[in-house]
Amino acid sequence: MAYKITLIPGDGIGPEVSEATKRCIEATGIEIDWDIEIAGESAIKDYGTPLPEQTLESIRKNKIAIKGPVSTPVGTGFRSVNVEIRKQLDLYACLRPCKSYEGVRSYYKNIDLVVVRENTEDLYAGIEFKKGTKEAEAIIKKIEELSKSKIRKDSGISIKPISVTATERIVKFAFEYAIKNKRRKVTAVHKANIMKHTDGLFLEVSREVAKKYAGKMEFEDRIVDNMCMQLVQKPQDYDVLVLPNLYGDIISDLCAGLAGGLGVAAGANIGDGIALFEATHGSAPKYAGKNKVNPIAMILSGVLMLRYLGEEKRADKLERAVADIIKEGKFVTYDLKAKRDDPTAVGTSEMADAIIKKIAGSR
Ligand code: NAD
Repeated sequence: MAYKITLIPGDGIGPEVSEATKRCIEATGIEIDWDIEIAGESAIKDYGTPLPEQTLESIRKNKIAIKGPVSTPVGTGFRSVNVEIRKQLDLYACLRPCKSYEGVRSYYKNIDLVVVRENTEDLYAGIEFKKGTKEAEAIIKKIEELSKSKIRKDSGISIKPISVTATERIVKFAFEYAIKNKRRKVTAVHKANIMKHTDGLFLEVSREVAKKYAGKMEFEDRIVDNMCMQLVQKPQDYDVLVLPNLYGDIISDLCAGLAGGLGVAAGANIGDGIALFEATHGSAPKYAGKNKVNPIAMILSGVLMLRYLGEEKRADKLERAVADIIKEGKFVTYDLKAKRDDPTAVGTSEMADAIIKKIAGSR
């Protein structure tokens, strides 16, 4: 029976990389009944909102979606369409595998890290008070009363909630992912020495969850500043990292950089029984419609989707074809060539064609 999957092509380069991804996924032989929905700038014209209810409903119903990047239009009341989708569907885990592929230019070789970032709270909860407002004044007064510490009157305030509930589920997610994918260790990352009641809680709960996996998966923790240095100096010592939202955002870009950058950075946002796959990069409007950009990050997000569906053989086939094409370095987009103005660089759809041909050849 065919899988029913929501596909959101997105804005800017989104439709091109989405089409390339759809064709490459289909080339593995999987049967998918695509439910194509819109979000972002492209949705405003028809629906008057960048995030139509129909799109959310389709993801809720199908429980699985893949999405091209969307631009966040200015002045629509949304901080970010992406953040709103994650919030509405409670996609609490952001998964970012960062892996070296031979042929991708990077200072590092053999990077194989997985970043698991908590997606719903921390300083990204969106609870903020603008400097000089009545609300900021009131919150400053209350905090001074309760904490007996002074806050400058001309301060802006952002609140950092970290809960047992959200920490338990994200750390459990990291362990379950590590076991299912035969990884060797989980590292919890925090700043518990300074922020005892938020990062301290994150560490304490991580240790409690880790006890349940003792003997099945190794566990350790690192302070976030030390983690940054260690990742730059000896990334091979690390495997699956689990982090609160803000550190997760920063460290996932650091790890993507170690592995070769945005062109190959795949990702997923996952909740209980529901998942949305998408590349890390944005809609790069200046390249829209030019058939120029690299489709690999979204295709590798498709590989993650196939693994999530339990379609391991098809996922392996697609990932191998991608790896071979990058390694051969012939049918690749400009960003994967030694010189960005290399006239032999191919376009988005031609790179997809080469991957599809490779898959066909591996049958
Ligand atoms: P961006 O990732 O779109 O582009 C930055 C630069 O990275 C581009 O100019 C291009 O040089 C390069 N690049 C990006 N993707 C590439 C690819 N596949 N192949 C080759 N080169 C690539 O980031 P931005 O300019 O900060 O954001 C543009 C828009 O995208 C904004 O509206 C932003 O809100 C949105 N955005 C969306 C998502 C998402 O949907 N998940 C993520 C990030 C940004």
